[in-house]
Amino acid sequence: MIFFSSVTEYDNICEGLSKEFASNSVEFFGYITEDNRLIVSNKGTFSKVESKALQFFNGKWYARVSVSKTYQGQINNRFGSFVPVKATIHSHNPQCEMPVTGLDEMSEEDLLFAKKYNSIKHYIYGCGGIAEFNSEGFVKVEVSKFTICHKWM
Ligand SMILES: [Zn+2]
Repeated sequence: MIFFSSVTEYDNICEGLSKEFASNSVEFFGYITEDNRLIVSNKGTFSKVESKALQFFNGKWYARVSVSKTYQGQINNRFGSFVPVKATIHSHNPQCEMPVTGLDEMSEEDLLFAKKYNSIKHYIYGCGGIAEFNSEGFVKVEVSKFTICHKWM
């Protein structure tokens, strides 16, 4: 039997991200859904969080999560609930020790994860802003979290 940890769901992406970041001393991993909401699916340690697998079918990427809300395009079957997602996002360095922004480096795991799931977007939420990355490295870094929340996603 596979265990699914409980998730936190936010209708407003920006509010959810800042709330998660402010209230945790550990990194989090989550998804931006196709209908523009945020699902935080797991928490890690101060400097590490596990990225979760995605499934691709019917031309879309799905996250298998136990959600209590209903999402556009969600599929429920005997294997669980599958929510269509357009991006993953995880945090870096929640304690914001200067001069670390969380956006100056990423792990080998991050790069491999982006390589494996290369047809959706991946974001890192750090003290200094939000960055989009792919298997090669950072694509763009935005220091205004407001801008990215409202323009990129
Ligand atoms: Zn990372």
